Amino acid sequence: MTAFTVVNPATEQPLTDVELASVEQTDALIERAHEAFPAWRAVAPGERAALLRRFAGVVDAHIEELAEIEVRNAGHTWGNATWEAGNVRDCLNYYSAAPERLFGRQIPVPGGVDITFHEPLGVVGVIAPWNFPMPIMAWGMAPALAAGNTVVLKPAELTPLTAMRIGELALEAGLPEGVLTVVPGKGSVVGQRFVTHPLVRKVCFTGSTSVGKGVMAGCAEQVKRCTLELGGKSANVVFADADLAAAAAAAPYAVFDNAGQDCCARSRILVERPAYDEFLGLLEPAVKGMAVLDPSDKGSQMGPLISQAQKDVVQGYVDEVDVAFTGPAPDGPGFWVPPTVVLADSTEQRIWREEVFGPVVAVLPFDDEADAVAMANDTDYGLSGSIFTGDVGKALRVARGVQAGNLSVNSHSAVRYWTPFGGYKQSGLGRELGPDAPNAFTEEKNVFIAH
Ligand code: NAD
Repeated sequence: MTAFTVVNPATEQPLTDVELASVEQTDALIERAHEAFPAWRAVAPGERAALLRRFAGVVDAHIEELAEIEVRNAGHTWGNATWEAGNVRDCLNYYSAAPERLFGRQIPVPGGVDITFHEPLGVVGVIAPWNFPMPIMAWGMAPALAAGNTVVLKPAELTPLTAMRIGELALEAGLPEGVLTVVPGKGSVVGQRFVTHPLVRKVCFTGSTSVGKGVMAGCAEQVKRCTLELGGKSANVVFADADLAAAAAAAPYAVFDNAGQDCCARSRILVERPAYDEFLGLLEPAVKGMAVLDPSDKGSQMGPLISQAQKDVVQGYVDEVDVAFTGPAPDGPGFWVPPTVVLADSTEQRIWREEVFGPVVAVLPFDDEADAVAMANDTDYGLSGSIFTGDVGKALRVARGVQAGNLSVNSHSAVRYWTPFGGYKQSGLGRELGPDAPNAFTEEKNVFIAH
């Protein structure tokens, strides 16, 4: 077994060492999850619901502790980390209603009665990235457990601590051993084993598009079910008839929240030409006024990047372009990059096309509605986007025209657990969250009974 030193990205100080599981250890934990499956699927629906509600209650009692861990491990601000821990609780509560509502159908057919059942798959492997360790864990784990599956979960190497703690809280809440197993380890070892191990019946992967393509190809070998939540390059489209002050005030948080390490970051701002200068004039003070501070300071609105490697990647993009203006960033240790605004020269620039995954936004003007939709869609990605306009009809037309899974009008709404979430094109495959999520962790079985 090897160990990984987890570092506080705001101070570069080591926090703790985490043992990384080997292939043999991963196999043993997958087998234990497989052994736990028959008893877990047999737990009566009301009782499984009660266990999930109890799990939610235990998480709720540890919100502050979990948030504190995430502030130190991932550099998230207090506000974000508290919301993220609360999101774990909320997802567990929401999906605790599912075991008692996992309905099949009765379908009219000649000669008999036809009924369908939603049956759990078995062991589900969840592979999580480092940018939102807690919510992404919950989005896979909560509906999968509710549908009667057991779960093995691999957190990202850089951010395993909250997942490990939530795994302990599950046991404290009374979930049986093996029902939820957190397996810290390398993607190429533990994550890959989830893909290749025949007892893992579905992989829920969230991460980069390049790794996701490999996961999908690997799953194809066994026709293994997979859900992919991948990268994004989302557009924030601002029309001249919008409340420009509101649009400019909201824009920094739509891209610089979590230091831009957000798959939904609106990292391309498209502004209708007549409003371009006024919008930039309003955006500049909003960006310069951001409180970019050590996230242990409760006033911090943006923390550091996750690692030196991520900082180098982001800096590489910034070094290629002329920066229009930046917000502040602390001096000294920590993986800091200030909120950065770039006026793009063309849609062919890397800064316009590639996911930077850092606090950098590119801005370009557009001429009319058709131009805005065409520019927004000129990308391999399709995860989210925003539309600012005072015209409801235009908002709906553009929302329907943009090829992305999650659009917001006159807001940059965060992911909501009540509603489906996922990407078009190379931003992903399948949907998470919303009322239908538990069905994605089942096989639908059809049974015909002759009269
Ligand atoms: P990543 O692809 O490097 O890693 C994601 C996870 O996959 C990690 O746990 C990693 O250890 C594991 N992994 C790496 N190689 C693997 C392999 N060969 N087999 C199996 N697992 C492997 O991504 P990251 O850098 O951690 O996360 C950032 C990316 O995630 C960004 O592209 C971002 O847009 C995306 N993301 C998407 C969503 C979404 O919901 N669409 C949400 C958050 C992040």
